[in-house]
This record gives sequence, structure tokens and C-alpha cells, in this order.
Amino acid sequence: MGKLAVNIVDKAGVRVPLLVEELNKAYADEWLAYIQYMAGAQVASGMPRPNLLPELEEHAAEELDHAKKLAKRIIELGGTPIIEPKMWYKYSTCGFAAPKDHDAKIILEQNLRSERCAISVYNKLINVLDGRDPVTHKLLVKILEEEIEHEQDLEDIYEDVKSLNCKKK
Ligand code: FE
Ligand code: FE
Ligand code: MG
Repeated sequence: MGKLAVNIVDKAGVRVPLLVEELNKAYADEWLAYIQYMAGAQVASGMPRPNLLPELEEHAAEELDHAKKLAKRIIELGGTPIIEPKMWYKYSTCGFAAPKDHDAKIILEQNLRSERCAISVYNKLINVLDGRDPVTHKLLVKILEEEIEHEQDLEDIYEDVKSLNCKKK
């Protein structure tokens, strides 16, 4: 923990332990999103895999990167990232949707819901931190940009899946 760094955030009117808790909730969401994408990539069917797999795996890697960056910031703020997977369920806002149905369309719908949840989580936090903690603010804006990209990518693939399904019938 950087003492001065934490002090500056505190003086700017942010309750640092509460911020750490919010970042830990986002951290739990990111781990679960990572696993949801990986599991989905492994079982998905119903669409040419070369179109679907690289996107799901790329998103998984990006969610893991978000978790890493959040962990770094949590530590800088004097907190400890939640390292117990059982606790991720407890802290998560967006939850975990197991890809029990392997249909690519269903998996994409589940992942889309998770992305939209992430977008609203980050959007809320960014609004609260504006002008108070520039470092966390900047990090969360960067993550939000990628979540928005994820939503767009999934929407695009979803349209492809739907048109493929139409052609089959
Ligand atoms: Fe993410
Ligand atoms: Fe995402
Ligand atoms: Mg992508």
C-alpha cells in the first residue's frame, strides 16, 4: 500500500475501504466472466467454430487481464484481492451463468447479459469516482471501453448465428 497515494484518495472524499470492496466485487465478476467465457468456448456448438472460438477466448483473456489490473489497484489501496473462488459467488454482482446448454445462441445470450451487467457496474463506479480518484477512474474507464467492445462483438456474432439458423430452416 502506498500511504501517500491512499491518503490523497481519502482526502478527496473517497472512503477507501468501501472503494476496495467495490473493486473486489468487480474482481469477483471478472474471474467469473473469465471462467464463463472459457467454459463456453469449450462446449459451444451450432456455429462454425473458427468464427466463434477466437472471440470467446479473446474475451476470456481480456476478462483475466481486467482481474489482474483490479488486483493491482486493490493492493495499491491497501486491500487484498479475494483469492478464494467460493467467495467470488458471494461478492459477484453479475454472477455466473454455466453454459449448460451448448447452443452457441444461448451461450452468446448468457455472455451478453454478463457484459451488460459489467457495463452498468463500471459505469456507476466511474460516475462516483469522477474527480476524486484519477488513477482508479482511468483504470475503470479503460475496462469499461473493453466491456463495451465485448458487447458489440457479441451482438455482431449473435446476428450471424441468427442468420445461420434462418438459412437452415
Ligand atoms: Fe471484464
Ligand atoms: Fe467483458
Ligand atoms: Mg472481441
